[in-house]
Amino acid sequence: MTMDKFDFDATLLTVNFATRLLAMELDKDTLLDRTLEAFCDLGSCKDAAIMTYDRKGDLIVVAASLDHERSFPNETVPMTKAMDEAAKSRAPVTRPKHEGSLYPLPGDSCEECPETCLCIPLVGSRDLVKGFVTLYRKNDKPWSNAELFQLGIVSTVAAISYENSELFRQTIEDSLTGLYMRRYLFIRLEEETQRIKRRGGDLSVIMIDIDHFKLINDSYGHATGDEALKQVAEILLQNSRRGADIVCRYGGEEFAVLMPGSKKEDAMIVAERMRIGCAESKILTTGGEIKVTISAGVANLDECDLLAGDAMLRIADKRLYYAKKSGRNQVVCDG
Ligand code: GH3
Ligand code: MG
Ligand code: MG
Repeated sequence: MTMDKFDFDATLLTVNFATRLLAMELDKDTLLDRTLEAFCDLGSCKDAAIMTYDRKGDLIVVAASLDHERSFPNETVPMTKAMDEAAKSRAPVTRPKHEGSLYPLPGDSCEECPETCLCIPLVGSRDLVKGFVTLYRKNDKPWSNAELFQLGIVSTVAAISYENSELFRQTIEDSLTGLYMRRYLFIRLEEETQRIKRRGGDLSVIMIDIDHFKLINDSYGHATGDEALKQVAEILLQNSRRGADIVCRYGGEEFAVLMPGSKKEDAMIVAERMRIGCAESKILTTGGEIKVTISAGVANLDECDLLAGDAMLRIADKRLYYAKKSGRNQVVCDG
């Protein structure tokens, strides 16, 4: 490849910065966001999408950035000829934009059409193609060799980082509910308390336990109990702040929500929303419709001596116990 004239120092600096940002990120959603940002910056464009394969091998859009708007559409897109070519050659291809898609997809070549769409394969470990990053430039300016060179380096790091984030996710994810495991709660609790000791800030926790769950198991069977557990997990997730709150399955039918940056009052509101969400939801299972309520205890780190995270969990647990004692289906924040 002949290199265009370009500022080597500036290029190294940008590539170094972008690759570090990607390599240090283990959270998949944040990584996808950063990947889009890095590609848009380095490719001087505003439209980008990341396509990955699902378990069946179909291509899906897991993240897209369209004129600054971020979304995670999880929508299946067709594999175009150009993408197939990029996958086989393990190299970027440029094509006119595929007219039929909302996302920047590379279409077929045509004599008159400017090649406004760039498709870079994400090649991961064992030389496997994990997906694609596609970019679209409105201004018809072709991508220079220097730009392709930079984007190529960043795509390798993005692909490996994506694999790492998937592997990491598997080690911290509860297989029944898809929530984080208890182990991850303790990792984040330690990190967050250390951060607060150095720089200050807020941290709250909600401890949650399903009411009379044994009765549900006894009446409908364990499998139906499992279905109910999954749906309660979904309600908790829906009422949390995506990307900020750490919603965990603490054990059996107990959950914990760690809320970095949240004051106790905010956590109380979220806990109450979760309680109402469960009480008012129709939990539809193969065993029939089930009524499920939860009890919760809320605590904040500033209620604990020496800002000890485990003490905060104990306080929240004690309040959860009070919620049970006072009749269940309630949130307790004091005492
Ligand atoms: P309380 O309102 O006091 O919390 O009553 P409870 O019946 O929910 O409390 P208890 O701790 O006695 O019972 C919890 C039950 O949850 C017992 C256990 O069999 C059931 N359980 C724990 N893990 C699972 C699971 O993964 N799946 C199912 N189906 N049941 C589970
Ligand atoms: Mg329990
Ligand atoms: Mg219970």
